Amino acid sequence: MFRREFLGLLAAARLNRQRPPAGAVVLFDGKDLSKWVTRNGTEPGWRVADGYMEVAPGAGDIRTTQTFQDFQLHLEFWLPLMEQASGQARANSGVYLQGRYEIQVLDSYGAQPAIDGCGAIYGQAAPIRNASRRPMTWQSYDFVFRAPRGEEKGRVTVLHNAMLIHNNFELSGVTGGNIDGNEGAPGPLLLQDHGDPVRYRNIWIMSG
Ligand code: MG
Repeated sequence: MFRREFLGLLAAARLNRQRPPAGAVVLFDGKDLSKWVTRNGTEPGWRVADGYMEVAPGAGDIRTTQTFQDFQLHLEFWLPLMEQASGQARANSGVYLQGRYEIQVLDSYGAQPAIDGCGAIYGQAAPIRNASRRPMTWQSYDFVFRAPRGEEKGRVTVLHNAMLIHNNFELSGVTGGNIDGNEGAPGPLLLQDHGDPVRYRNIWIMSG
C-alpha cells in the first residue's frame, strides 16, 4: 500500500470516520445537500462547511428524498458545548429511521443511560450503556434496521462509537415527531432540528 493511502486510513480511523463500503448509497459526502429536502419537500436551509452539515436552528428538520426499507446506516455527529443548558436543551437533535423512529442525539456525556438521553430510542429504550464522548468531538452511530412487516414489529441494532447500545431491539411503535404512522412503508432518513447547531457528516446507507 502506498504510504499516502496508509496515512489516510490511519487519519480516518483516528477521526472515527468510516469509509463508505462499495455498494453503499452516500447520502452526504460533505459537499452539498442535494439528496435532502425539508419535511415538506423544499430546499433545506442547513449550513454546509468543511465537510459537515450543521443544523440551522429554526430551518426545520431535513429528510432524504430517497426512501428505504431494511438497511445498514452509518453517520457521524458533533455536538456543540452548551455549558449553560441542561437536559433536553443540551445539543439536542435526532436521527429518525424511516422518518418514524428517533434515536436521540444529545450531549449526555457522563450521564446515566436514560430513555431520552443520547442513544435512546426516544421514549422506548435507554441505551444499554452510555457510549457518549465529550461534546466538540466527532462520534459515530451505526444502525441495522429491519422494518416492520405484517404483525412483525420493526427491529433495530445500534452501535454508538462502535459500542453496542441496542441489540436487536423490538420497536413498540413510532416515536414522537414522526413523519407518519405508516409503519412498514418505506421511509426517508430524517435529521431533527431541535434548535441546536449539531453537525453531521459521512452519512451512508446500504439496503438490507
Ligand atoms: Mg431529539
